[in-house]
Amino acid sequence: MSGEQTAQDETKAAHMADVAIVGAGLIGASLAAALGSAGLGVVLIDRLPVSAQLAATFDGRTTAVARSSRQALEAIGVWGRIAAHAAPILDIRISDARLDPSGGPAPTSRLHLHFDHREAQRRGGPAAPMGHIVENRHLRAALFEALETLPAVKIFAPAEAVEAVRDEGGVRIRLADGRIIRAALLVSAEGRGGRLHEEAGIRIRRTGYGQTAIVVTAEHALPHLGVAQEKFLPTGPFAILPMTDDPLSGAHRSSIVWTERDDLVPALLRLPDSDFQAEFARRFGEHLGAVKAIGPRFSYPLSVQTAERLAALRLALVGDAAHGIHPIAGQGWNLGLRDAAALAEVLVDSHRLGLDIGHASVLAQYERWRRVDSLSMIAVTDGLNRLFSNDLAPVRLVRDLGLAAVNRMPPLRRFFIQHAMGLLGDLPRLLRGEPL
Ligand SMILES: Cc1cc2nc3c(=O)[nH]c(=O)nc-3n(C[C@H](O)[C@H](O)[C@H](O)COP(=O)(O)OP(=O)(O)OC[C@H]3O[C@@H](n4cnc5c(N)ncnc54)[C@H](O)[C@@H]3O)c2cc1C
Repeated sequence: MSGEQTAQDETKAAHMADVAIVGAGLIGASLAAALGSAGLGVVLIDRLPVSAQLAATFDGRTTAVARSSRQALEAIGVWGRIAAHAAPILDIRISDARLDPSGGPAPTSRLHLHFDHREAQRRGGPAAPMGHIVENRHLRAALFEALETLPAVKIFAPAEAVEAVRDEGGVRIRLADGRIIRAALLVSAEGRGGRLHEEAGIRIRRTGYGQTAIVVTAEHALPHLGVAQEKFLPTGPFAILPMTDDPLSGAHRSSIVWTERDDLVPALLRLPDSDFQAEFARRFGEHLGAVKAIGPRFSYPLSVQTAERLAALRLALVGDAAHGIHPIAGQGWNLGLRDAAALAEVLVDSHRLGLDIGHASVLAQYERWRRVDSLSMIAVTDGLNRLFSNDLAPVRLVRDLGLAAVNRMPPLRRFFIQHAMGLLGDLPRLLRGEPL
């Protein structure tokens, strides 16, 4: 058989799409839902079966869904599927804390910063939450349920993308099982361990923080009243994030992101339950009465990574594949969702005009739009972590005074609240709650 004949046969057998997305994590799946709901043909590829991603032990984290991200989830038909599992964030309290060497609860500094959702209230309008805490397993389930309703989206999972050839005419992706996909554009939503950028010559800068986040769920005697707490301990932030009450037992619950030095984490994770509970309780404190960590202990090594470019020939990077940040401000997924919403908007607009959606000019528009937001969020989260994850007395004093000073300045507080809610900047239509 001639080479030309083989190529023709392969083209006939190939799956055709407008966009091929590698990575069906929280960002790849969100992008597929946005594009699919606007009618673009999408192939969504992940090496993991969907059932594995939905297993209770796959991801113990929660996501702080900012107000604008919630609006985007509403616009793509996902929010309604998770609303019952979403706990509103009404207050955020940030304070410095240190461990009591005698094993008692960590005392917090009296100088603190407090954000109240009512401060962000639009004139005359009702006070809405700053955001919601949603368990990742519910977010994933809602995204896959929404994708099932979209005939324009085909999910290939489990399937490993092993080769991608991009040229002026389009993209050809080969899966490990030999299947071929052809598309006008390839999107890397591969997360931090992505490879597609390499053969496109996009360099990624990575720096480990020497920190690992332990993630557990806490049950506590008193209700959290929608308050999210972030305590800055010398080894890193300890976040207490309000969850919905347990649907079966009615227990009050919070999600914990407990940052520790890398070298301490394996020993902490191996502790017998009573010792682990004691270490946990001395960091958590007594403000919600008796507390215990329940369920599995998850851990996530922390690093910052930045792709030097967000696009190359017929390739766009979104989510953690483009920028992985410290979870200190709960913004990684929100940032990635803004990538997905911006990319969806430029692609859908170009498609409606009959333009080539993989053309360099379309991708340049995406890259220009997302560059500043990405770089500033990387700088802010990196700076915050470096400022707060140390125990030098002069640094502690300056940051405590800084927190107290911001706390006394309502306009500055309002600015920070609006930033955390994702309401500032040049927002894509989806994040404003408008359809694509
Ligand atoms: C402790 C912690 C707490 C966090 N809390 C928050 C928060 O409150 N709010 C917030 O906004 N963000 C938060 N984040 C960040 C957020 O979780 C991430 O930004 C987000 O999950 C990234 O999603 P993603 O889809 O880009 O990548 P991933 O979730 O890493 O998904 C990538 C997918 O690509 C697949 N894949 C990769 N390569 C291939 C290949 N060659 N072929 C096939 N499949 C492939 C993988 O199997 C995977 O499913 C937190 C992060 C941590 C660590």
